[in-house]
Amino acid sequence: MLKVTNIRNDFPILKREVNGKPLVYLDNAATSQTPQQVIDVITDYYHNYNANIHRGVHALSQEATDKYEEARAIIQRHINAAKPHEVIFTSGTTHSINLVANGFSSLIKKEDEILVSAMEHHSNIVPWQMLCERTGATLKVIPMNQEGELVMKTYHELLSPKTKLVFCNHVSNALGTVNPIEEIIGAAHKVGAAVLIDGAQAAPHIIADVQALDVDFYTISAHKVCGPTGAGMLYGKEEWLKRLPPYQGGGEMIAEVTFEKTTYADLPHKFEAGTPNICGGIAFGAALDYMNHIGFDAIAAYEQELLTYATEQLLSIEGLKIYGTAKEKTSVISFNVEQIHPYDIGTILDKLGIAVRTGHHCAQPIMDFYKIPGTVRASFCFYNTKEEVDTLVAGVKRAKSMLL
Ligand SMILES: *Cc1c(COP(=O)(O)O)cnc(C)c1O
Repeated sequence: MLKVTNIRNDFPILKREVNGKPLVYLDNAATSQTPQQVIDVITDYYHNYNANIHRGVHALSQEATDKYEEARAIIQRHINAAKPHEVIFTSGTTHSINLVANGFSSLIKKEDEILVSAMEHHSNIVPWQMLCERTGATLKVIPMNQEGELVMKTYHELLSPKTKLVFCNHVSNALGTVNPIEEIIGAAHKVGAAVLIDGAQAAPHIIADVQALDVDFYTISAHKVCGPTGAGMLYGKEEWLKRLPPYQGGGEMIAEVTFEKTTYADLPHKFEAGTPNICGGIAFGAALDYMNHIGFDAIAAYEQELLTYATEQLLSIEGLKIYGTAKEKTSVISFNVEQIHPYDIGTILDKLGIAVRTGHHCAQPIMDFYKIPGTVRASFCFYNTKEEVDTLVAGVKRAKSMLL
């Protein structure tokens, strides 16, 4: 059982007020809050051992290097990667995806096809469109249904020997749908395609075992798992990371440089040009430690309770429609109230101290599919409570009475 009161005490920001009201933070799908344990790790870094890594002979540099590599090992264990150098530190999911898309430029040909799901975040659409522009390859879309689930029958029909890459998020940030990635990966491998799973939205709720999944690439952003912004990771199978060319050139990623020729460093350094976000990487590891200490089973069970309760309570409001009613969902609820623009609801909720997101949630194709301008999205974390759900429901009712 999860002790929510104790957990809330770990998050200083949850004590603040917004517009004279206690903050009710329900925008966790955009970014999660940071516990004191992680803030302490960040402070400790700048107080005690801030230094550049990997090159220094002095004590601080060695300490920073050790802590940074320890964080890599924490991430490796968390996703069960076979080797530490299969974990590449990046600035987040967007960076991770661009790294892979750029790398495939030299491996993709004009006649090849790339499949992407209809419910992707823009960061998992645009880099592939750019890749197709560079290579002449064709981008095809795995469609979704009204419930917000992928149409798997069509997916299987779209796969062919021409398919070289498949991209899909593990969990949709706009709808909360948990996608059947085992089936997606297995079927793609049968036709020889590589698979990248965007795990940005899954990571706060589900542990992905990359070896059991047999996935080729998997991405996580630290700021969605109680870590800082500007840090994240790309998991890649060693064989793929060896085949892909480096993304950026610079310091750290080379073995030898002359003006005639440069040879690249071994993994993971080949993909980690320049001074990285050292503190961010270390704090990312601390954030995963924090969440694992609470336990992902307990987190998932509690969040499902919140999801069920919030779904019931919100649906009791007349004229409220929820988008994304997949059988398997994480604690994300996207909704609209008849005749009211989502932005107007969001603005009134903010006046009441309630933070939700409104708009297309970086997933415009989903909004086009439902023929709506956007939604109000409430996304719950393990530190949210049923009382906060009640505050949200009362707030939506209040907004409705003011706007209609
Ligand atoms: C947040 C998110 C991203 C983008 O992550 P960044 O940290 O902004 O790079 C991509 N995909 C999904 C599903 C997300 O939820």
